[in-house]
Amino acid sequence: MLEANSLCKVYGNTVAVKDLDLKVGPGEIYCMLGANGAGKTTTVNCFLNFIEPTSGNVKINGIDVQKKPMETKEHVAYIPENVMLYRNMSGLENLRYFATLGGSGCTEGDCHDLLARCGLQPDAVGKDVVGYSKGMRQKVGIAIALAKRAGAVLLDEPTSGLDPKSSNEFSELLLQLSSENVAIFMVTHDLFRAKETGTRLGIMRQGELVRELDAEEVSHSEVEKIYLEEMKY
Ligand code: ATP
Repeated sequence: MLEANSLCKVYGNTVAVKDLDLKVGPGEIYCMLGANGAGKTTTVNCFLNFIEPTSGNVKINGIDVQKKPMETKEHVAYIPENVMLYRNMSGLENLRYFATLGGSGCTEGDCHDLLARCGLQPDAVGKDVVGYSKGMRQKVGIAIALAKRAGAVLLDEPTSGLDPKSSNEFSELLLQLSSENVAIFMVTHDLFRAKETGTRLGIMRQGELVRELDAEEVSHSEVEKIYLEEMKY
């Protein structure tokens, strides 16, 4: 579903991503870890066609993102660290607006169901986003992503700044999505959540994927130990 083949991105003297090969299949949750500047966001941005690879390619659903950007966008939803919403519209209005824009044609009932499924408190649904916490905005963001019914979801540090309960609820939603065969690629610094939610974990260092782990085969403490070992170089 999501595929990077010998992906490279170079900025001047900086090799942001080097020879990255990656596959995320339906139902997989791939969590990408790595220090600041390791190349994680650059990878996501290539999948979103925000930037062009220097060489190699990325594919969504077998379609080359750079060759058919509009087509691949239909298959993917994106949740950034800070979901941007219209502050003077309610969560419901934002969802309705973005769902219509995305062509998914959600009914009023669908929108309510989605927001409830994403855990937005019923009394917040009709209130302006300006008064929402970050966790509430992220929940609307997930609802917008779900409304798109995309086969792949890309997330860039979506739980940064969320309290443990909201972060846990977020993980539950990702697990639900994976049970519906969605391919998920999440950039995160949260080793605990990555191990808890991910099916596979990747560790990037200076643009290279230096380690891949099967989440079931490692304990929380092993993930931390391996991560710290990789960061020594
Ligand atoms: P973080 O965890 O801090 O978000 P990251 O792993 O997502 O980091 P990237 O944002 O992908 O890292 O950056 C990878 C490298 O590419 C860094 O050295 C960064 O400085 C460089 N880089 C990213 N974007 C640009 C750009 N537009 N111009 C020049 N260099 C860039």
